[in-house]
Amino acid sequence: MKITIVGLSVLAAVFGLLSAVLPARLPAEQREAQKLKVFISVDMEGICGVVAVEQTTPGNPEYVAAKKWMADDANAAIDGAFRAGASEVVVNDSHGSQRNIDPGDLNPKAVLISGAPKPQSMMQGIDETYDAVLFVGYHAGAGTQDAVLDHTISGSVVQSIKVNGVELPELGLNAAIAGAYGVPVVFISGDVAVCKQAKAILGSEVVTAPVKDGIGRYAARLVPFAEARRGIRDRVSDALRKLGQFKPYKIATPCKFELQYYISAQADMAMYFPGVQRVNARTVAFTSDTYVKGFKMLRGLIALAPAR
Ligand SMILES: [Zn+2]
Repeated sequence: MKITIVGLSVLAAVFGLLSAVLPARLPAEQREAQKLKVFISVDMEGICGVVAVEQTTPGNPEYVAAKKWMADDANAAIDGAFRAGASEVVVNDSHGSQRNIDPGDLNPKAVLISGAPKPQSMMQGIDETYDAVLFVGYHAGAGTQDAVLDHTISGSVVQSIKVNGVELPELGLNAAIAGAYGVPVVFISGDVAVCKQAKAILGSEVVTAPVKDGIGRYAARLVPFAEARRGIRDRVSDALRKLGQFKPYKIATPCKFELQYYISAQADMAMYFPGVQRVNARTVAFTSDTYVKGFKMLRGLIALAPAR
């Protein structure tokens, strides 16, 4: 068939019209890249308003209000993520029994992972398909001054945890799980102390939303709820809009874990496990060829330690 110049321009016009009407169809891998998958780990000690153990322990009358505050902080982060274009948000309940957030209180656009035990604990669900991790309601590591309810994983078992010689609070231990899957932590909310710790460990680019300023361990000057949640929402959006600036937090492998318990009986029990060495009365150490495997071993040694 012979195509004239006029015919060509008619064809071009029709094609132009069609492409204006139909959405551009990108190749599969590019469409995948357009998705923004966000993982949120929500702890409780760093939630707006929380200053006491009674508020974070089921069975206490004060807990009922605090678990609603926890859902509200999580919802502020979820809102911020969707405003920044998130296509999928998964929330992992990360405190104690890990079933604090009432599923009915959470924004239904997000998926909730609830209950324990879970092999990756506070990071259950994270894998290499995510683009960003947010920490909500986090707290500073054991032994931090002027930090609300400071502890590392278990207040009655752990004095300190070192990985490759560096002491890490929960935020560092959990960021390294995300890092093992190549996913950066871009945001954290909690008290002023945990925000400072996050910048020191993960880098100054991590976006923070302080919701209270610790006055010792059991008191804080609180940011009013509405302002704190606006801060969480807006800063989550800011962080996700500049995703390119963040790097995953990676631990060099093989990695050496050192766990300092509270009492020597806890370290005695750890010696039942192969590959665990005694460093001193209260401290044990082991080496792992991957970080995630080592983290699971660490988590097991803490979970099985006898009470003080
Ligand atoms: Zn907690």
